[in-house]
Amino acid sequence: MFEDLNDLYQQVILDHSRSPRNFKKLDGANRVAHGHNPLCGDRITVYLHLDGDVISDISFEGSGCAISKASASVMTTTLKGKTIAEAQKMFAQFRQLVTTDKPDGEDIGKLAVFAGVHKFPARVKCAILAWHALVSALEGRPCMVTTEENPTAPKS
Ligand code: ZN
Repeated sequence: MFEDLNDLYQQVILDHSRSPRNFKKLDGANRVAHGHNPLCGDRITVYLHLDGDVISDISFEGSGCAISKASASVMTTTLKGKTIAEAQKMFAQFRQLVTTDKPDGEDIGKLAVFAGVHKFPARVKCAILAWHALVSALEGRPCMVTTEENPTAPKS
Protein backbone atom coordinates (compact mmCIF):
# COMPACT_ATOMS: atom_id res chain seq x y z
CA MET A 1 0.00 0.00 0.00
CA PHE A 2 3.01 2.30 0.20
CA GLU A 3 4.20 1.86 -3.37
CA ASP A 4 3.90 5.55 -4.07
CA LEU A 5 5.88 6.66 -1.07
CA ASN A 6 9.44 7.64 -1.63
CA ASP A 7 11.68 4.69 -0.67
CA LEU A 8 13.71 6.70 1.80
CA TYR A 9 10.59 8.04 3.50
CA GLN A 10 9.17 4.53 3.65
CA GLN A 11 12.34 3.28 5.33
CA VAL A 12 12.17 5.99 7.96
CA ILE A 13 8.53 5.23 8.69
CA LEU A 14 9.18 1.50 8.96
CA ASP A 15 12.18 2.12 11.19
CA HIS A 16 10.17 4.31 13.57
CA SER A 17 7.25 1.87 13.64
CA ARG A 18 9.51 -1.08 14.44
CA SER A 19 11.71 0.80 16.91
CA PRO A 20 9.60 3.66 18.18
CA ARG A 21 11.52 6.41 20.01
CA ASN A 22 10.42 7.64 23.43
CA PHE A 23 8.06 4.67 23.64
CA LYS A 24 7.41 4.50 27.38
CA LYS A 25 5.33 5.92 30.16
CA LEU A 26 6.92 9.19 31.20
CA ASP A 27 7.79 9.38 34.87
CA GLY A 28 6.98 12.84 36.14
CA ALA A 29 4.65 13.70 33.28
CA ASN A 30 2.36 16.59 34.17
CA ARG A 31 0.15 16.27 31.10
CA VAL A 32 -1.29 13.18 29.48
CA ALA A 33 -3.90 12.53 26.82
CA HIS A 34 -5.23 9.49 25.03
CA GLY A 35 -6.11 9.28 21.38
CA HIS A 36 -8.20 6.65 19.63
CA ASN A 37 -8.73 6.15 15.92
CA PRO A 38 -11.66 3.72 15.70
CA LEU A 39 -11.38 3.42 11.92
CA CYS A 40 -8.09 1.63 12.25
CA GLY A 41 -7.99 0.63 15.90
CA ASP A 42 -5.00 2.82 16.77
CA ARG A 43 -4.63 3.86 20.39
CA ILE A 44 -1.95 6.35 21.46
CA THR A 45 -1.27 7.88 24.87
CA VAL A 46 0.94 10.97 24.84
CA TYR A 47 2.83 12.02 27.98
CA LEU A 48 4.31 15.48 28.40
CA HIS A 49 6.45 17.19 30.94
CA LEU A 50 5.83 20.90 30.59
CA ASP A 51 8.33 23.29 32.10
CA GLY A 52 6.57 26.63 31.87
CA ASP A 53 5.65 26.71 28.21
CA VAL A 54 8.48 24.39 27.10
CA ILE A 55 8.00 20.69 26.39
CA SER A 56 10.98 19.48 28.39
CA ASP A 57 10.12 15.82 27.84
CA ILE A 58 7.63 13.83 25.81
CA SER A 59 6.86 10.16 25.32
CA PHE A 60 4.07 7.91 24.13
CA GLU A 61 2.59 4.46 24.53
CA GLY A 62 0.04 2.59 22.54
CA SER A 63 -0.68 0.16 19.80
CA GLY A 64 -1.70 0.57 16.22
CA CYS A 65 -0.61 0.45 12.63
CA ALA A 66 2.83 1.36 11.34
CA ILE A 67 1.80 4.88 10.33
CA SER A 68 0.25 5.78 13.69
CA LYS A 69 3.24 4.50 15.63
CA ALA A 70 5.82 6.05 13.34
CA SER A 71 4.00 9.37 13.41
CA ALA A 72 3.92 9.39 17.22
CA SER A 73 7.58 8.42 17.36
CA VAL A 74 8.72 11.12 14.94
CA MET A 75 6.51 13.63 16.74
CA THR A 76 8.21 12.98 20.07
CA THR A 77 11.68 13.33 18.59
CA THR A 78 10.64 16.57 16.89
CA LEU A 79 8.94 18.29 19.81
CA LYS A 80 11.31 17.76 22.70
CA GLY A 81 12.55 21.18 23.81
CA LYS A 82 9.96 23.07 21.75
CA THR A 83 7.54 25.62 23.17
CA ILE A 84 3.79 25.14 23.19
CA ALA A 85 3.43 27.75 20.43
CA GLU A 86 6.03 25.99 18.29
CA ALA A 87 4.32 22.64 18.83
CA GLN A 88 0.93 24.05 17.82
CA LYS A 89 2.46 25.57 14.70
CA MET A 90 4.07 22.24 13.80
CA PHE A 91 0.73 20.51 14.28
CA ALA A 92 -0.83 22.91 11.77
CA GLN A 93 2.00 22.31 9.33
CA PHE A 94 1.78 18.55 9.80
CA ARG A 95 -1.97 18.56 9.28
CA GLN A 96 -1.53 20.49 6.05
CA LEU A 97 1.23 18.12 4.96
CA VAL A 98 -0.84 14.96 5.36
CA THR A 99 -4.15 16.35 4.09
CA THR A 100 -2.97 18.22 1.00
CA ASP A 101 -0.16 18.05 -1.50
CA LYS A 102 0.75 21.64 -0.69
CA PRO A 103 3.07 21.85 2.26
CA ASP A 104 3.35 25.47 3.31
CA GLY A 105 6.95 25.72 2.21
CA GLU A 106 8.60 26.00 5.59
CA ASP A 107 11.20 23.50 6.64
CA ILE A 108 9.37 20.85 8.63
CA GLY A 109 12.38 18.60 9.01
CA LYS A 110 11.72 14.98 9.82
CA LEU A 111 7.97 15.43 9.50
CA ALA A 112 8.47 15.52 5.73
CA VAL A 113 8.62 11.71 5.67
CA PHE A 114 4.81 11.75 5.98
CA ALA A 115 4.34 13.85 2.84
CA GLY A 116 3.04 10.83 0.92
CA VAL A 117 0.26 10.09 3.40
CA HIS A 118 -2.17 12.49 1.70
CA LYS A 119 -2.38 9.99 -1.17
CA PHE A 120 -3.89 7.47 1.25
CA PRO A 121 -6.95 9.14 2.79
CA ALA A 122 -7.63 6.20 5.09
CA ARG A 123 -4.19 6.71 6.65
CA VAL A 124 -4.50 10.43 7.37
CA LYS A 125 -6.26 9.83 10.69
CA CYS A 126 -3.59 7.30 11.64
CA ALA A 127 -0.85 9.83 10.98
CA ILE A 128 -2.56 12.67 12.81
CA LEU A 129 -3.80 10.73 15.85
CA ALA A 130 -0.77 11.36 18.06
CA TRP A 131 -0.91 15.06 17.21
CA HIS A 132 -4.54 15.29 18.27
CA ALA A 133 -3.58 13.71 21.58
CA LEU A 134 -0.67 16.13 21.88
CA VAL A 135 -2.87 19.18 21.38
CA SER A 136 -5.34 17.80 23.89
CA ALA A 137 -2.54 17.33 26.42
CA LEU A 138 -1.19 20.83 25.78
CA GLU A 139 -4.62 22.27 26.40
CA GLY A 140 -4.93 20.30 29.60
CA ARG A 141 -7.78 18.14 28.40
CA PRO A 142 -6.83 14.72 29.70
CA CYS A 143 -9.88 12.97 28.32
CA MET A 144 -9.95 10.55 25.45
CA VAL A 145 -9.86 12.25 22.09
CA THR A 146 -11.06 10.55 18.97
CA THR A 147 -10.45 11.25 15.32
CA GLU A 148 -14.17 10.91 14.67
CA GLU A 149 -16.18 14.12 14.48
CA ASN A 150 -19.13 12.70 16.41
CA PRO A 151 -17.90 9.93 18.63
CA THR A 152 -20.49 7.43 19.69
CA ALA A 153 -20.28 4.74 22.26
CA PRO A 154 -18.98 1.48 20.83
CA LYS A 155 -21.68 -1.01 20.08
CA SER A 156 -21.13 -4.52 21.25
ZN1 ZN B 1 -3.85 3.22 11.78
